[in-house]
Amino acid sequence: MINLEDYIRDIENFPKQGVLFKDITPLLADPKALDCCLEELIRLTERQKITKVVGIEARGFLFATMMAKELGAGFVPIRKSGKLPYATLKEPYSLEYGMDVLEIHEDAIEKGDKVLLHDDILATGGTARAAAKLVEKLGGEIVQCNFLIEIEFLKGASKLNKYEVRSLLSY
Ligand code: AMP
Repeated sequence: MINLEDYIRDIENFPKQGVLFKDITPLLADPKALDCCLEELIRLTERQKITKVVGIEARGFLFATMMAKELGAGFVPIRKSGKLPYATLKEPYSLEYGMDVLEIHEDAIEKGDKVLLHDDILATGGTARAAAKLVEKLGGEIVQCNFLIEIEFLKGASKLNKYEVRSLLSY
């Protein structure tokens, strides 16, 4: 029996002072843990009808792509400003200090697409909320916001309260 928490490494003060970074690379590097994590993330979706899995840069891409394959859905990346090559829709969002912008290709979602939004970590929720807005602006319906880890004390789920939010692990 695999305990996924054993494969998440805490790194203090990364990328800056005061942040406890949840490093998922040990989980990715272990074939059994990787397989178990994917299976558990799929279980969270309750196999609802999903046509697109949207992953948020960069670590969100890893499981989002695998989940899309498993669910028979397409994969769509949401990236930071200036990284996507085709025409994009943009959504600004606030960070602890200042602002950033997320982008999605303007043809990535079809009207009526049933979307599973995935990222590795839900912290303050600002990133996922901006990503959800992009999906909805293109006519997609968010079926679930799905995370590997939720950092509960940051209350990110409250920013996503109009969506179903599911996380595999909570801290
Ligand atoms: P937020 O917008 O605050 O919910 O931040 C979510 C994004 O920042 C995700 O894409 C995460 O990968 C990253 N992130 C935030 N906090 C952490 C953390 N403690 N450890 C690892 N990644 C984090």
